[in-house]
Amino acid sequence: MVTKDLERFTYFRGRVALAAILRGLGVRSGDEVLLQAFTCVAVPEGIMSIGARPGYVDVEAGGLNMDPADLEDKIGSSTKAIVIQHSFGLPADVMHLGRIAREHGIPLIEDCAHTLTSRVEGRLVGSFGDAAFYSYEAAKPVFVGIGGSAVSNDEQLTKRLADDYTQYEGPPAVAQLETAAMFHAYQIAYRPSTYWPLRSLFRTLSSAGVIRGNYNKIASSERPAADFRRRMGGLQQRLLYRELQSLDTQTAHRKRVAGEYQSLIRTGRVTHLSVPARMEPVFSRYPLLAENRTELVERAREARVEIAIFYDTAVHPLEGSALRTVGYEPGLCPNAEWTAERIISLPTGPRVGNEQIRRAVNFLNGAPAATPG
Ligand SMILES: *Cc1c(COP(=O)(O)O)cnc(C)c1O
Repeated sequence: MVTKDLERFTYFRGRVALAAILRGLGVRSGDEVLLQAFTCVAVPEGIMSIGARPGYVDVEAGGLNMDPADLEDKIGSSTKAIVIQHSFGLPADVMHLGRIAREHGIPLIEDCAHTLTSRVEGRLVGSFGDAAFYSYEAAKPVFVGIGGSAVSNDEQLTKRLADDYTQYEGPPAVAQLETAAMFHAYQIAYRPSTYWPLRSLFRTLSSAGVIRGNYNKIASSERPAADFRRRMGGLQQRLLYRELQSLDTQTAHRKRVAGEYQSLIRTGRVTHLSVPARMEPVFSRYPLLAENRTELVERAREARVEIAIFYDTAVHPLEGSALRTVGYEPGLCPNAEWTAERIISLPTGPRVGNEQIRRAVNFLNGAPAATPG
């Protein structure tokens, strides 16, 4: 992937890019597309938008990414594509997963929503599958408000994407303004120390319908269908161009911050994820596993330390029987559910300076907190 490639096929959202790729690969209504549990509803939504069926593969025990053994078990005669995910920027086992996909003759798509620059054996994620897609929302490594890209490593698929792309329209002016307003508000207001109050505000405004939340109601709204035929807005395209210019600087920063968390967080309260030597992750957020998560996060909120919980269910943010609306049967992927109950993550973005690193590290290591509790 050259950053220029990310500017060629840009869509309203990452899930729209995924849908375009699936269509380009000839996936049709009724076909099965495998994806991992411990994911975001955006992914099954993209799959279901073209009438395909999501099928869930478990993650590795104690891990964040697709388990090759379970993939092998879940592949069936109706499986027409496999979506693998590099959760939080930790690369999936692309070699092993890629070999299984090739042996079965099934195309592989990389979900690079969490990383543009992680590497495996020196090679960039996004270059291992037939195609990859990216997302540019607030929690993603490149933030432009809302948007996504599709990249193909296959000439025929690239041509199909290009033909298909002519039928996409830009987002309506109102939606563009809404996105721009949100983008600027976030740029001004967000710091790790304002994470918690901003999060409550966002939830209040989106449940009141003042702003649009991150998640559509899949079956009930007409808006998603139209959104799946939209490109990324012009303003977002310009922001993407600008952001990609500083990608190397951003990557170096995220690596440094994650490196500090990795070496300085030493406590029985949380466990670091293991990173195989051939992987060079660039973490969009730094993941940790916590046994007493509820209590820990409550204290973090009081201490104004940014600790996020996602994905807290197998298909975030759906819970219980709502998971069935995207074809996930509770209990199906026990490793994913185990991870979802324990995952927490720390920010690594440009607003994280030495002071924020120190506060997060001290908080987790159990140094006396600034506020009682
Ligand atoms: C955010 C995200 C996406 C895409 O999100 P959009 O809102 O459609 O841009 C896809 N996969 C994962 C794992 C994500 O976290």
